[in-house]
Amino acid sequence: MANDIQNIINKTELNLQDLSQLLNLEGEEQKLLFRKAEEVQLKYVGNKVYYRGLIEFSNVCSKNCYYCGIRKDNKNVERYNISDDDIVNAAVFAWKNRYASIVIQGGERSDNHFVNRIDHLIKRIKEATNAEIGITLSLGEQTKETYQKWFNSGAHRYLLRIESSTKELYEQIHPKDELHHFNTRLNCLHLLRKIGYQTGTGVMIGLPGQTFDDLARDLLFMKEFDIDMCGMGPYIEHKDTPLYKERHKLWHIGKRFNTALNMIAVLRILMKDINIAAATALQAIDPMGREKALKHGANVIMPNITPTLNRKNYQLYENKPCIDEGAEDCGNCMNMRIELANREVGLGQWGDSKHYFNRT
Ligand code: SAM
Ligand code: SF4
Repeated sequence: MANDIQNIINKTELNLQDLSQLLNLEGEEQKLLFRKAEEVQLKYVGNKVYYRGLIEFSNVCSKNCYYCGIRKDNKNVERYNISDDDIVNAAVFAWKNRYASIVIQGGERSDNHFVNRIDHLIKRIKEATNAEIGITLSLGEQTKETYQKWFNSGAHRYLLRIESSTKELYEQIHPKDELHHFNTRLNCLHLLRKIGYQTGTGVMIGLPGQTFDDLARDLLFMKEFDIDMCGMGPYIEHKDTPLYKERHKLWHIGKRFNTALNMIAVLRILMKDINIAAATALQAIDPMGREKALKHGANVIMPNITPTLNRKNYQLYENKPCIDEGAEDCGNCMNMRIELANREVGLGQWGDSKHYFNRT
């Protein structure tokens, strides 16, 4: 059996069936997969891990994704919006601590006031950091003009998870209305790539009803789309969401975690030179979850630099880690964890996707 797995791992082209089989591995066979992923990681992207200081600047959202704790209709969340000054200060904190890049993430909105505010913020952050900080945005679906405007102002990476590339599954976890169309999301990914962003996507792993074949198709989707970056992690239920009532269909949390690690390892083998983030949701399940991902494929980590007061209200899922820590604690704890994983922190370097430069 181990020989069969080794043969699959060594293949030059992995098909749906191969991928599906690899995603299911545990124990000794999983170690073979992890060994190969680490080998590819060290050869193609090296042992450096890059920081992206994460600023979860607002939990106000106009959408109602069935899985998300900050969805519009969840009345149990206290909504917040961090001031522009606090966002710029968080970015300057990242820059001074040589994080080199930040991610501005929040609920999705597309009104003019919001679009202009983000544009203004990008310019202010660039100015306050001598244009040295790299800016990734994760602000959902927007028009082509908005993406272009933000790009022109200095944002250069964009993360938009497809959530699931299986259209039927995507439709099961979103309301059936104009705001939540699979094709719109897909089209946004194409727009981002065309404009010139380093384009990142990802999926949730272990959604109710999701199969290994669905996840294998997600990996093939990423390969075919030719993404530059990926951020994916386990789905974790939240009691104030409609998907919570489907929890009887969920895999055990350990299986979701294990499969998430396998997804990262297999993606590293499949797309050797892209950037892969160790998602925070991994740490919600296992305190060393992100470090495990860094050992077997992931090369980006996102220390939370959101002012602490607001963190408890950005709970996409329950038991989100680090909601009581200040930015400094978060950074220190992360340095130590990365060294434990035998990796080196790429301080002061943007750590852009090698794949992006190889394809452009
Ligand atoms: N609003 C933007 C969007 O949806 O693209 C960016 C912020 S959104 C909170 C970022 C990601 O959180 C989503 O793409 C989704 O994959 C993830 N997420 C939301 N609810 C989750 C849950 N219950 N478990 C795991 N991940 C979740
Ligand atoms: Fe809003 Fe993003 Fe949550 Fe969907 S996943 S409800 S768009 S914050």
